[in-house]
Amino acid sequence: MEIDKLIRTNIKNLRPYSSARDEYTGEAMVFLDANENPFNEPYNRYPDPLQRKVKEKIAAIKGCEPSHIFLGNGSDEPIDLLFRAFCEPGHDNMVTIDPTYGMYQVSADINDIEVRKVKLNPDYSFSADALLEQADDQTKLIFICSPNNPTGNLLDKSETIKLIQSFSGLVIVDEAYIDFAPGASLLTKLNQHENLVILQTFSKAWGMAGIRLGMAFASPEIIRIFNRIKYPYNINMLTQQKALELIEQVADKNQWVDLLIDERKKLAAELINFPFVVKVFPSDANFLLVKMHDARGIYEFLVENGIIVRDRSKVVLCDDSLRITVGSTEENRSLLEKLNELI
Ligand SMILES: *Cc1c(COP(=O)(O)O)cnc(C)c1O
Repeated sequence: MEIDKLIRTNIKNLRPYSSARDEYTGEAMVFLDANENPFNEPYNRYPDPLQRKVKEKIAAIKGCEPSHIFLGNGSDEPIDLLFRAFCEPGHDNMVTIDPTYGMYQVSADINDIEVRKVKLNPDYSFSADALLEQADDQTKLIFICSPNNPTGNLLDKSETIKLIQSFSGLVIVDEAYIDFAPGASLLTKLNQHENLVILQTFSKAWGMAGIRLGMAFASPEIIRIFNRIKYPYNINMLTQQKALELIEQVADKNQWVDLLIDERKKLAAELINFPFVVKVFPSDANFLLVKMHDARGIYEFLVENGIIVRDRSKVVLCDDSLRITVGSTEENRSLLEKLNELI
């Protein structure tokens, strides 16, 4: 695969912004290069534009090289950068599954890129051939999401690999929920597929949605393109510091994941007993998709009682379904107690 042929010409020819801190290497004592204020340490200094320390820690945990990592302001940033780097507005298109995470469509729309959606099978599985059939010369990206949001299921790994091997553009696999589906990440396959981009995030299993930190894993060639077009200081100092601190607490993260998987099991078992619940879909994520009679009515009843879930009943293949995040034991009990009032 030749990334050079895939990239937009204006991006290929771009001379990126060069920040003061990019230009020097080595040890310095006096920084008079960036028009910073000498007072108010440490907030007066620009943050590391390439987040080297954070990437080193992530690389150690994930078992990959820092050169394969891009960090963004949430996963939203790499999603947007993919369109900006590879898709010519008003000309190129992307293919994705339906239903899936809404940001791919929003980002495509903002960048004036046509979206071609391929409905999942009724059991929420997907077929590589069905996606490939929608692709043409103008298709630069294929987005899939595993475990998928809002259906909750992992997508078949061999089907995903077939897709990656058969497509001449980039395949993006969004693994935002991968920690809840142990052993399922495609990260170990990164070196074998030059056109694979894996998205992960600190927003879910790691419990850091508030600091906005998303990860993209890809070949160093693709990572270099992202680095050329991102805002120079896209990850602020507070986020970098907090991430360095919290990544140390990987044991906490693992404990939360175990607890949430346990709660997911219990919640699913309880929910299916309600007479108005039709189906609790199997989940590899930290939420449950639940089909019920009068989903909208139940959603509104819960809102009135201060419990907010996500109404997905207007989404393709999700009619009459609510998406319920697995919360703490106490939160889940509150939900079940409220639902009990309906019978
Ligand atoms: C929650 C979620 C994300 C995370 O987005 P951030 O911008 O990193 O918070 C990414 N992808 C999917 C499918 C999600 O559901």
